[in-house]
Amino acid sequence: MRAIRLHDTRSGTLLPLAPADPARVGIYACGPTVYSRIHIGNARPFVVFSLLKRFLEHEGYGVSLVINVTDVNDKIYDAARAQDRPSAELAAQMTELYRADTDALGLGRPDHEPLASETIGAIVEHIATLVRRGHAYAADGDVYFRVRSDDGYGSLSHRRPDDMDQGEDVEGAQRKEDPLDFALWKAHKQGEDTVWESPWGPGRPGWHIECSAMAEQLLGVGFDIHGGGSDLVFPHHENEAAQTRAARGAELTKLWMHNGMIQFTGEKMAKSIGNIALLHEVIGQFGAQAVVMYLVSGHYRQPLAFSPGELQDADRRVQRLRDALRRLAPGEPSPADMAHHTDAFFDALANDFNTPTALAELFEWVREANRRGEGVGDADLREMLGVIGLGELTARESVGDVAAVDSQADELLRRREQARRERDFATADRMRDELRERGWEIRDGPDGPELLPTANA
Ligand SMILES: [Zn+2]
Repeated sequence: MRAIRLHDTRSGTLLPLAPADPARVGIYACGPTVYSRIHIGNARPFVVFSLLKRFLEHEGYGVSLVINVTDVNDKIYDAARAQDRPSAELAAQMTELYRADTDALGLGRPDHEPLASETIGAIVEHIATLVRRGHAYAADGDVYFRVRSDDGYGSLSHRRPDDMDQGEDVEGAQRKEDPLDFALWKAHKQGEDTVWESPWGPGRPGWHIECSAMAEQLLGVGFDIHGGGSDLVFPHHENEAAQTRAARGAELTKLWMHNGMIQFTGEKMAKSIGNIALLHEVIGQFGAQAVVMYLVSGHYRQPLAFSPGELQDADRRVQRLRDALRRLAPGEPSPADMAHHTDAFFDALANDFNTPTALAELFEWVREANRRGEGVGDADLREMLGVIGLGELTARESVGDVAAVDSQADELLRRREQARRERDFATADRMRDELRERGWEIRDGPDGPELLPTANA
């Protein structure tokens, strides 16, 4: 087992991963609020923490990864109202689409994907404990966390109280003892079509409390790694930490790990970017492997620029790997005198999950294999690609059904059929063209459409 170090936001230093039980490393990452389809920015934590789990498993740890789904929220009420439909129906549909969109990345699912709407009992219990211990108070059916009652408040985000803005609506402001306080429970308001009973009256949870409740329910208090985007450090994660510290007298997690944001630069309008950057669109255009390659090309802590050019670069790197794999001997051991690149690859991941340095070593390995010509064993490359989420590339050249050979083609076919059902023929045609580029023709057989390699069609 390598010594693994990860950057901890609270201490501002690299901390060794030191799980109490190496067979049960817990990772909790904050997932999406399901009011619309997710974009590439939402995919980054999904990919970072899914791959971190893979790497830890490669190193011999057992890992439980939890990524929650926020399905009760102001944004969902607002979006549902604008579409004149029930908020629970919109949230359920967007949860399904979030699963489909992230499935298409080919990285599998987290071990647990709890929903806020299914955690209300644990949420109410947590709030009741905070009230009982004097860390929270009810006011007109709302319940607020008493921020100044928590001595540790601010220790994660390192903000001074004067710089803390909870970003909550003004109408609750007069019910707060202190503007620093934040909502744990919100009394039912007109226009909100989901509501739950509580000791403080009908209402629904505030945003932050769900993660304290879900994380504790699935991983216990004091689990190993809490992750999420750097935009969540304040107020969301500061508040999560406070809620658990105040209710349980212990820290929620040992290590806070935050990924940088995707940056949309050099584009005219944020709105148009929002459309082109939807994950399923980006995957449809460039393929899942290029999207994963793009996301691991930068260090997880750094911002990552988004543009079609960046995705095209990633696609070219994927193509280089495909070309190299064709010349390698599948499943054969790799030369021992190339193993230093493989070691350096995994050492880079052990050093604060440095995927760009790891990738550089992987491509050094490929360069060396190409230099040696045909027949170099691909075992080491397979091992590296599997950990970094690109293992599908090694399956492409084998025979079998299309899903096993090329899950991306299978996905394109599925999207084409869906587009045809929705009479979106422009999209259907685009999917057909992309399949052609990948070497597949669509044939309408007796059991529906099937894919044939172009040469045999
Ligand atoms: Zn959260």
